[in-house]
Amino acid sequence: MAAARHNWTKEEILEIYNKPLMELLYDAATIHRLHHEPNTVQVSTLLSIKTGGCPEDCGYCPQAARYHTHIKGNDLMSVTQVKAQALRAKASGSSRVCMGAAWRNVKDGKEFDQVLEMVRTINKLDMEVCCTLGMITENQAKRLAEAGLYAYNHNLDTSEDYYKEVISTRGFNDRLETIGNVRKSNITVCSGGIIGMGEKVNDRAGMLVALSTLNPQPESVPINALVAVEGTPLEDQQTVSIWEMVRMVATTRIVMPETQVRLSAGRTQMTPEGQAMCFFAGANSIFAGDKLLTTPNPDVNDDLELFKLLGLKAQKPFIKKMQPQTVEAKDSNYQSLGEKPKWSRPEHTIPRNEAVKSKRKS
Ligand code: SF4
Repeated sequence: MAAARHNWTKEEILEIYNKPLMELLYDAATIHRLHHEPNTVQVSTLLSIKTGGCPEDCGYCPQAARYHTHIKGNDLMSVTQVKAQALRAKASGSSRVCMGAAWRNVKDGKEFDQVLEMVRTINKLDMEVCCTLGMITENQAKRLAEAGLYAYNHNLDTSEDYYKEVISTRGFNDRLETIGNVRKSNITVCSGGIIGMGEKVNDRAGMLVALSTLNPQPESVPINALVAVEGTPLEDQQTVSIWEMVRMVATTRIVMPETQVRLSAGRTQMTPEGQAMCFFAGANSIFAGDKLLTTPNPDVNDDLELFKLLGLKAQKPFIKKMQPQTVEAKDSNYQSLGEKPKWSRPEHTIPRNEAVKSKRKS
């Protein structure tokens, strides 16, 4: 079994992406079988624990405060609410809960302490816990690890070049910095991206270069198809075709053979046949629940039916790595340092984002 390579070039990745489809599918499925149980797919549940009002300007995101979208914001959920939702998710077959907060970054204090308690609570339910909270420092990553966090999600979104066309409030390097901070703890890394934002195939390959040359490679890579939301700068983007999605999943599988490839946003735009092709190409995780943070997702019953039809089983938790221990708040080895992660202020604006922001003002 070939080990993961960390020296992929863009040219090599493009060559894989552009192979005749049947050959690409065959290669990806072969690699998938060598590294994973091919009839097992992890079901994860994504909870939006704090919705809307985000100060960032990600062009695809309806939660950015500066755009005028249908999103109704919510303050941070309580630990009790999160526990109830996690129990429901577990009962319907999820082995992982991912909690997302629409923050630029984590700030030490009461709200972060509350998130740490959510992590402890879910880990004690014997489920993998993942968080996506924006930028974090090394100390914050260590505190999350101590609470029992299994994974931290921080997507690179796209290539370094195209990143500047989508987000102007932080830089690509800031993303890598947070991923580096996560790696200083024993938390696994979840990082992927979105296709269909107007990027070129070259950018998709560029993103895969950035992810696959990380050493170690991310344990989890979500591949999202843009869900164009009215009121965001990317509202007019065409839906990405299933063929592009399959190519992206297959290429990700080939260049990151051991990672869990997550078929994430955009599944409502895919037929069961399209999703089946993505599983064959190496996707081995889906998100369950009627919402993916704020965008639509297939009904749980439709997913159960699809699993039955395809003979797929839901993956148990902690297959890839042992369950972390939970350290209680009173026994913590780490202090709150009152930190805010530092980030760069790229000196550019994105005309498309600015135009949508002024439309909101007017
Ligand atoms: S993607 Fe995350 S950081 Fe960007 S605007 Fe949305 S919530 Fe904020």
